[in-house]
Amino acid sequence: MNSSSTLLSPMAQDTYWGSFEEVSKYNVSLNYAEKMWLAWYTFMQNDVLATGIMSFVMHETVYFGRSLPWIIIDMIPYFKKYKIQQHKIPTAWEQWQCALLVLLSHFTVELPQIWLFHPMCQYVGLSISVPFPSIYKIAFQIAIFFVCEDAWHYWAHRAMHWGPLYRNIHKIHHQYSAPFGLAAEYASPIEVLVLGLGSVGTPILWCAITKDLHILTMYLWIVFRLFQAIDAHSGYEFPWSLHHVLPFWAGAEHHDIHHERFIGNYASSFRWWDYVLDTEAGPEAAKKRREKKMAAYKKAKAS
Ligand SMILES: [Zn+2]
Ligand SMILES: [Zn+2]
Repeated sequence: MNSSSTLLSPMAQDTYWGSFEEVSKYNVSLNYAEKMWLAWYTFMQNDVLATGIMSFVMHETVYFGRSLPWIIIDMIPYFKKYKIQQHKIPTAWEQWQCALLVLLSHFTVELPQIWLFHPMCQYVGLSISVPFPSIYKIAFQIAIFFVCEDAWHYWAHRAMHWGPLYRNIHKIHHQYSAPFGLAAEYASPIEVLVLGLGSVGTPILWCAITKDLHILTMYLWIVFRLFQAIDAHSGYEFPWSLHHVLPFWAGAEHHDIHHERFIGNYASSFRWWDYVLDTEAGPEAAKKRREKKMAAYKKAKAS
């Protein structure tokens, strides 16, 4: 446990709920979630294992839990009118194959890396103590991570579309020209590592600089980032999709075109990089580009 922790070191019990009771006795000022958190670390008596198991279980639960509604939506005809690539509904077999490959990569590539996670957190000073930071601090830090990850993703993903990198690494992710939720992490292990660096490296770097980050904030950030990635691959655009409220939010409409056309729309969460650097994809963007060219041509002719 972190030395800055304010707890009165309760004794570990034989069961998790036994530890929870013990923790509750000695730490009355903590809220329910904080007690559960502390009881987990007290029960495990091994921080590396406690963080490792929690990280892996959280990732699997969120990844497959968030993909499930999209699998169900694919089976309901009512939603077909919201499907971006109308005639490309993924089959159950395709989704099953994809899920198996993603699972295999989680167990072989990701699991060993997760054991390095706690020592790395300790090295940069990530806190695991209770009480948790305020909701405002959590929200502020997550917003910063979204912006930074998006910048990393834009450049790394754009680089992945360079011939040799595309052929050897990124092509796997582009197997599905009409993506679906489960396909979010369907990629080469090298790609998972490089693009994952934006998601894991950003908070680690933030903590190394500011010395102010709780592992709970990191978890919540990963949960939001997973939601973003899975939803962006869902293949559905609704009238209530977030980018209608936040015009700079990328969403499924943005990333679906990337899978369909293989070029442009490289960013993950936001639209600003593709807008500013003129890498927007799709017929609308092409029309805008043509109009711009025409205007420049007319101006040159007139002068
Ligand atoms: Zn791509
Ligand atoms: Zn994709």
